[in-house]
Amino acid sequence: MAASHSGVSTNSGLQDTSSDTNDEEKGELCPGFKDVDAFVKYGLGAVLSATKSSAALPQTGDEFDFYRSFPGFQEFCESQGDKLLHCMSQIMQHHGCRSHMRDRNKLTGLEERFDLVVDSNDVILERVGILLDEADGVNRSQQPVMPAGFQPPKIVVSSWNRKGSGSGSRSGMFRLLHAKNVARPQLKFKEKVDNSNTPFIPKIFIKPNAIKPLPPYFTNKQIRKERPEDIDVPAALADFIHQQRTQEHVEDMFAHPYQYELDHFIIPERLLSKPEPQMYKPMAETNCSFIDTLEDLVALNEKLCKLSEFAVDLEHHSYRSFLGLTSLMQISTREEDFIIDTLELRSELYILNEAFTDPAIVKVFHGSDSDIEWLQRDFGLYVVNLFDTHQASRALNLARHSLDHLLTHFCKVDSDKRYQLADWRIRPLPEEMVQYARTDTHYLLYIYDCVRAQLLDFNHGQPGLLQSVWNKSRDLSLKKYMKPIYTEESYLELQRKQKRSFNTQQLTAFRLLFAWRDKLARQEDESTGYVLPTHMMIKISEELPKEPQGIIACCNPVPPLLRQQVNELHLLVQQAREMPLLKAEIAAQKNKGLTPIKKTEITLFGPHDTSRVSVTDLHPFSPDELPVKQGTLFSDDDNKMDVDAQKTSGLIAAAKITLFEELEAQNEQESLPVAQMKARRIIESFENPFRMYLPSTEVHVNKNAKFDPSSKIFEISKRWKLQSIEQQQKELEEKRKTKEAKEQIKKVTEERNKAKQSYQESLQNVATVRQQAAESAKGGAKKRERVASEVGESTPKPSKKLMKSAEKPQKTEPPAQDSFKPFDYSQSDLNVFAGSKPKDNTQFDPNRQGQDFRKKRTPKGQKSNFGAGGKSMSYLAGKSERGFRHNWPKR
Ligand code: AMP
Ligand code: MN
Ligand code: ZN
Repeated sequence: MAASHSGVSTNSGLQDTSSDTNDEEKGELCPGFKDVDAFVKYGLGAVLSATKSSAALPQTGDEFDFYRSFPGFQEFCESQGDKLLHCMSQIMQHHGCRSHMRDRNKLTGLEERFDLVVDSNDVILERVGILLDEADGVNRSQQPVMPAGFQPPKIVVSSWNRKGSGSGSRSGMFRLLHAKNVARPQLKFKEKVDNSNTPFIPKIFIKPNAIKPLPPYFTNKQIRKERPEDIDVPAALADFIHQQRTQEHVEDMFAHPYQYELDHFIIPERLLSKPEPQMYKPMAETNCSFIDTLEDLVALNEKLCKLSEFAVDLEHHSYRSFLGLTSLMQISTREEDFIIDTLELRSELYILNEAFTDPAIVKVFHGSDSDIEWLQRDFGLYVVNLFDTHQASRALNLARHSLDHLLTHFCKVDSDKRYQLADWRIRPLPEEMVQYARTDTHYLLYIYDCVRAQLLDFNHGQPGLLQSVWNKSRDLSLKKYMKPIYTEESYLELQRKQKRSFNTQQLTAFRLLFAWRDKLARQEDESTGYVLPTHMMIKISEELPKEPQGIIACCNPVPPLLRQQVNELHLLVQQAREMPLLKAEIAAQKNKGLTPIKKTEITLFGPHDTSRVSVTDLHPFSPDELPVKQGTLFSDDDNKMDVDAQKTSGLIAAAKITLFEELEAQNEQESLPVAQMKARRIIESFENPFRMYLPSTEVHVNKNAKFDPSSKIFEISKRWKLQSIEQQQKELEEKRKTKEAKEQIKKVTEERNKAKQSYQESLQNVATVRQQAAESAKGGAKKRERVASEVGESTPKPSKKLMKSAEKPQKTEPPAQDSFKPFDYSQSDLNVFAGSKPKDNTQFDPNRQGQDFRKKRTPKGQKSNFGAGGKSMSYLAGKSERGFRHNWPKR
């Protein structure tokens, strides 16, 4: 029914504009039919009879089994089934979807086919949506306004862009706002962005309007404190203490801070009765304030706290940032509009929680799915008592659910969404963009009144339907922000969405490029699409260029970071080319008339085996490798490996212990401090602890074992390093009074810290994740506390509630420690988040990000939130990565 509705309404919409188009065009649109109506009618009739016939088929179970015992029936079923599959394949092909529905070899089961159909449906529906938007004047596939120089080659000026703000004028109105040389707002952030490959931990540290107080993890600095750094506490014990401290808080760390309040939130009676819509004030007569100082923000908060409702919207930038940046917040009351510079006030916005979480104040959003997440991610803001007009529009079954449509429908305002994808980091904001942003909230409270009234009317005055919208809105406010987490399998998820099939070498290239891109994007705080758009990544993987120039040639325009690192990429591609192809793949290549890229001497099997890759082929980083530094049990440096052994061994690694590499190196420098000499003697007295396990010259060790955090060898190698360094440290401590020794201690402590960090980042020891979170929270809290006290100084009437809670932690706090350090991603081990899951369920699992510990709800079809930048991409490449399952809420 819904389909027929929208079909009819679109059609009638089209007729207005098509009245001046000629008949030929119409004929082409539906050959053999008088007009679109006739076609739709015929189509619906066919669908109806097909549905009826399918319902009349013998039911599964006895009935079907009985019929199946007749060979004629069986044959008929098979042939019809094939026909249907063929038909579906054709439709899917037509839409450019993966379509091997009939190929029984490629697809194992019904489930996989079902997935294929679901995916294709998503693609097709997405297209329909785009076309409808296009017909309506919004082109969703339009490129975002982005810095000059990074414009994709084809700039198609399309309807959304062409549409003038005044109605009527259709041509000459388009204008792209080039955001040339926009200063990176991140540079000014007081709290550095945490792009580490660790789960998101809420930023909240003060909880206004709490029924259930904020768990101690967020308020008690003692718990969040890092592991004891006291020199007298052995490292292992310190780790243990820290783990114990945080272990019991894991649940709190990932819970929704307002879960309890939202679970117990009851819609006030007055909000379920029919309102008299209160007309909006004309925009021209409405005061609009730009808020970019703390003082104004505090004043705004005070104002909001006195209201019974206000409207909110956000603008977001995602191209030049890894996680995305909330760039603007618009708030409208019945009387005034406010535009808040959220880049400027990023660390201060948390104060709005007082109004945002007040259950007596309704917060009206339109399509709040992303907004809820962005508020948490950037400001630690939560919403209690949300009303989402997009949900209301759905419940009312309106023709479309975009804000545009509501504005036209209820306010007779011709809105203009051309700035939706503009670069919202631009400052000062051009007037047109301010006007655009205002429109997003200015009319929303009136729409809120209208839809509530209609929801009640629709349901004959019964509050059921309205109540359901409140409930859906509450569910939205319970959403938790999830950080994109890189795992060894992430690339497969993206690959699956492409319509390409890769051979072993291509898939390897894709995997390596994907890892490179993710790492660089986090490091540089850029979106993955900025670093290397997916379609270019696919092109490089498919072509496997032999030369760096070939890589460049795959990209147009060439992404700046790719140009910078083209040599590293070249090594990655080379590594991929070394992969042995399967027989079938070689045959396939021959069929295509290509000479397969094959190295004759290759004897490897596993895709993770790099032991045969020559030193020059070694890529700067690969997800298979841990950033193991000197002094590890097994040297990373293949250079030193016996060349013959390398040639003949395949998976056999030479046993070589370079545990004390650093010291040996130092020994070569003539003068050694006494302590080091002593340490060396002790070390020399050590027998290789693995000797008994080793054959005299070689040991058969899977090379991956040393990188695999779940392997014993890995664990031992890491622990061993810590122990050896500790040993040195003890020695040094004896000589602590002498100056040189002091320096040495410092040095060794540094070493130990390094080793500890590397070790902790392994799966086995999870303290780092918490430390990291604690540190970032601590850093943030500190700043915010300071800011909170400034509020008191700089404003005549500070919020009392806020001050009370803000002052408390300040008094008990020890003096400030080192300021927050951004996570050093280069030290991190990507493997930590992949592969083997700890058997012990009570152990902290970084992959359990945001998992609700109370109710485990993971709907079957739900995809993980990974996605090369996730859903916050607004550039085109990111769009495809968002996957079609995630649909932007209609705005
Ligand atoms: P809106 O709620 O319409 O003001 O949109 C808020 C933000 O979401 C915009 O600033 C964009 O960054 C992003 N956004 C909205 N619609 C899309 C879309 N179709 N594709 C990508 N990003 C979008
Ligand atoms: Mn919005
Ligand atoms: Zn908006």
